[in-house]
Amino acid sequence: MDYLFQLRWSDGFVCPKCGGGEYRTAGTALFECKDCGHQASVIAGTIFQDARRPSANWFTAIWRTETRKYGASTEGLKQAIGLSSCETAWTWLHKIRSAMVRSDRAKLSGIVEVDETYIGGGEHSGGASRGTGNKALAAIVVELKPLSTANKTGLHPLGRVRLFVVADASAESLKPFIEDNIEKEGKVITDGWASYSFVASNWYAHTVHVGGKKSEGEQMLPHAHLAVC
Ligand SMILES: [Zn+2]
Repeated sequence: MDYLFQLRWSDGFVCPKCGGGEYRTAGTALFECKDCGHQASVIAGTIFQDARRPSANWFTAIWRTETRKYGASTEGLKQAIGLSSCETAWTWLHKIRSAMVRSDRAKLSGIVEVDETYIGGGEHSGGASRGTGNKALAAIVVELKPLSTANKTGLHPLGRVRLFVVADASAESLKPFIEDNIEKEGKVITDGWASYSFVASNWYAHTVHVGGKKSEGEQMLPHAHLAVC
């Protein structure tokens, strides 16, 4: 609660109603203004509001979500917190991830891999037609952090990841997504799909990933694959 208090009032308590700076504690997360009696909560409007579990459990869950290389799993979270079911753990993860989305967020920068995949199945959208069938096609952008010399896998650590449902894999559909989410001057890696040919002529340094398994199993680009699978 001290931490949440610091986040809300980093320069000391300010009553949201009258601007007063004096308060008394009125509950675990409640602070009452000494001037007007207004009660302000440090958890109102946060994911801690209405939580049945102690906030410490939520901090544990947030820490797991933030630090697991491949994301927190529902099973792992269920066990770590002692939740009753994977469904509950899923709800927790969903709540945490929703809170992590910032509407004013910055675009991805540096080296960024771009690919598409179908949501609801592991199949890649490759092939001659890239028809969408019954599934939703999502475009994905993945930021690649620098490779350390100790890293022998050849895979970059992943930075920020974004997924958006797109109508199809045409340049018309993919272009706004790329321009909205990747900084100009970024280095963009795609496969050889023709829709990406605009990338090279649009501020970006474009690298076409070759040697993928387009013809046999339609693998996604390696980092995009790591990010969504
Ligand atoms: Zn007040």
